[in-house]
Amino acid sequence: MKAELISTGTELLLGQTLNTNAHYLSQRLSSLGINVYYHTTVGDNTERMEQVLRSALDRADLVITTGGLGPTLDDLTKQAVCKVWNLALEVHAESLAGVKTFFAKLGRDMPESNLKQAYFPAGSKVIPNHLGTAPGAIVEKGDKTVVILPGPPAEMLPMFEETVEPYLKDRTKSAPEVIKARALKIFGMNEAQVDEILAGMLTGHSNLTVALLAKPAELHLRISATSPSEEEAWQALDALEKKIRHELGDKIFASGDLTMAGAVGELLSKAGMTISTAESCTGGLIGGTITAVAGSSAYYLGGFNTYRNELKHKLLGVRRETLEKYGAVSSETAMEMAAGARLQAGTDLAVSSTGIAGPGGGSEEKPVGLVYVGLATPEETQAQAFNFFGNREGIRALTVNAALNWVRLYLMRGRAN
Ligand code: ATP
Ligand code: MG
Repeated sequence: MKAELISTGTELLLGQTLNTNAHYLSQRLSSLGINVYYHTTVGDNTERMEQVLRSALDRADLVITTGGLGPTLDDLTKQAVCKVWNLALEVHAESLAGVKTFFAKLGRDMPESNLKQAYFPAGSKVIPNHLGTAPGAIVEKGDKTVVILPGPPAEMLPMFEETVEPYLKDRTKSAPEVIKARALKIFGMNEAQVDEILAGMLTGHSNLTVALLAKPAELHLRISATSPSEEEAWQALDALEKKIRHELGDKIFASGDLTMAGAVGELLSKAGMTISTAESCTGGLIGGTITAVAGSSAYYLGGFNTYRNELKHKLLGVRRETLEKYGAVSSETAMEMAAGARLQAGTDLAVSSTGIAGPGGGSEEKPVGLVYVGLATPEETQAQAFNFFGNREGIRALTVNAALNWVRLYLMRGRAN
């Protein structure tokens, strides 16, 4: 099934609103094995909306529109679908009652213009909207389908998940081919290295595809398998994943929705261990990333945000001589930071960061991107040097993942190196 997303709204074209609907829908559709071939964005204009719909229906089997379901004059999606497919707008009794109840609950009179929201292209399957007044619709004609959803993400998301996703799952189940896909997340290799390993792995398997996506601090490898049945697709996907894992080993830190911090959290919980952080160049980002995982209080006790040398000394006991002799950006400082945090927080493990995130502050000896990560464990304290490329944001994101990845590897191997 080929899909096209049409995002409507002049505010999107003006750059006032970021098109998060397309971002979200594309992810969901690809995980359903539906290929999204085009994203189109169009303003609130009848003529252009119709044009865009016509060309989308020409080249796609499934068209999903968002926006333009409001009560105002510039909300014209349903009218455009009617025009293009030559359908009448018909009142939907249940939705009419729904809109009336919505206003009754608010204790307000219903504006006449809201009546519009109870009208749908003839033959529509109406998609209930529990959070707003604009229900959506699924309209089918021949082998083409248009799914009409409202613009506000808070309304669109639950409607998609509750009604559209089950509908699409049902549709793709009866399709002659099913596609199953999964993301494998990689840290510590670059695209070229991964490419080289993957080359040859797919020859003779036209049902398998891999796509490498570079994220700010990690690589995501989307693997997919196409087969006549769901079971065969999963089998082919599992076999491919096994082969890739055999080659990439522990460079793969997670799959699916699991994040680096989530993977570390699972390992810490399993080991029954606690951790603390001592951060300089990341300014609390490592702690922030760890605590983005729900339930992290079970293993994360807290952290020391010691940006200035004085605080490294005061809070973590980093020796003044160390700071003077080796500098704040050094393996010695990274180790003393980690050891200090472990001692002060009383945790099993502690991880530290100190480096030059740039753009200024670099020297020949210590260039921008030089980062030391320290790890203190019950057995020993060590540091690793990294030379990262990128802007300030990128270097800091890489540092966070490098620190967490080291903790992950330690927990998997039972040793720091
Ligand atoms: P409403 O009843 O609110 O008018 P609607 O279905 O007509 O809903 P729009 O008027 O197009 O939707 O958009 C309403 C709001 O939803 C916009 O102001 C914008 O904040 C948000 N929105 C619309 N489209 C998108 C999108 N593609 N991505 C993210 N947000 C969006
Ligand atoms: Mg609107």
